[in-house]
Amino acid sequence: MSKAQFGFDTLKVRGGYNPQDHNYAVSVPIYQTASFELGDTDRMERLLRFNEQGYLYSRLGNPTVAVLEERVAALDGGSAALAVASGMAAITYTLFCVAEGGGRILTTPHLYGGTVDSFKRIYPKFGVAIDQVQNPNDVEEFKKALTPETKAIFIESISNPNATLLDIEAIAAVAHEQGIPLIVDNTFATPYLLNPIKHGADIVVYSATKALSGHGNAIAGVIVESGTFNWANGKFPQFTEPHYLLRDDSGTERSFFDLAPQFPFTLMVRLTYLVYLGAVLSPFDAYLILQGIETLSERVQKQVANTEKIVRYLETKPGVAWVSHPAAKGSPYQTLAEKYLPRGAGSTFTFGLDGSEKQVDTFINSVRLFSYQANVGDSRSLIINPPKTTHGELNPAELEFAGIPPETIRLSLGLEDPADLIADLEQAFEKSFQEVA
Ligand SMILES: *Cc1c(COP(=O)(O)O)cnc(C)c1O
Repeated sequence: MSKAQFGFDTLKVRGGYNPQDHNYAVSVPIYQTASFELGDTDRMERLLRFNEQGYLYSRLGNPTVAVLEERVAALDGGSAALAVASGMAAITYTLFCVAEGGGRILTTPHLYGGTVDSFKRIYPKFGVAIDQVQNPNDVEEFKKALTPETKAIFIESISNPNATLLDIEAIAAVAHEQGIPLIVDNTFATPYLLNPIKHGADIVVYSATKALSGHGNAIAGVIVESGTFNWANGKFPQFTEPHYLLRDDSGTERSFFDLAPQFPFTLMVRLTYLVYLGAVLSPFDAYLILQGIETLSERVQKQVANTEKIVRYLETKPGVAWVSHPAAKGSPYQTLAEKYLPRGAGSTFTFGLDGSEKQVDTFINSVRLFSYQANVGDSRSLIINPPKTTHGELNPAELEFAGIPPETIRLSLGLEDPADLIADLEQAFEKSFQEVA
């Protein structure tokens, strides 16, 4: 299916899939196989020299997984995508690949807890240094923090957990002036609310575990590339140096850039980081994520509508100290939300309970409908206390730097009736405040 020809809602149910190529199966078949017949030795040679497209072994590629990859690439306006076994694998493989050999990554304090922990605990051990700007709202800070070794700027389009926003176009311009890519974790927004590539991003990563699939029944990640970044600008020799693995029929070695000028990044991650480190997405899990994507727009619309109702409710509630969502009254992110997120700023956000840590615990223990769990973007509404869980590895100073004080409660709104959700929060407020009265 031609990507340019169809709108978002058509692509989300049909993108990347031609029934004629799969025995006219209506639903994407699950190619539950580790390996593929090579046919004869001539065909095997053609496959290995990239003269014929086909499958060899499911660690390198699988037809079910390929439909997911093509569908997400189409939804985001990318040239190609690579699906992996988790959002963490998508982030780690992407950043290791772009900064391999001792590069630095410039980022912000407003990130998913697992990302922050990995930056602290494993990146330095693999020779990749992380720099953080203090105030990501000031684009000048990104400029000042760049070094000759900086290989990418990495941001979250809507941050976890506080739903803070950034001026993506301005940050992309800073990165491009330096000849480096902007990499955006677009998990909270999903391609339905935001296409970072249209605003200058070069690589987009997802935890497909979250709102992209929405049903919370599989762990998965996706990496999308724009096809427009110049990887041959001299800063990224890993894409332009020839490899024996990529030789042509005459034995001439080629680079990832020679072989796939439209998608050297995902090809390199596939044939190196994915193949050697091995976090491969199973065909069954790819199928589950595809099922979720079929209803992406409808789900996210309802989740955003529910979120805005809950934000309005919390704003009037005496026991609430603050609400951190771009739709909240007085949010400093309203202008950015109008520009980048006209369909809504996502369904995960935080609020501060105006009480003790014990009252926060009572609140969490009192909800009956909201599920107490670490996922987000699910069709069910979820609640969690980030300082002790998702961001529990951050010490008190780091929590403050990240804007996550002890009274922080994170909500992820699902698809239930908003009146039921409000009634649930209402009785939890009563319980948590009656104890101290
Ligand atoms: C959950 C999450 C991740 C990690 O994804 P997994 O699929 O759990 O590995 C990365 N980034 C953000 C913003 C997330 O919310």
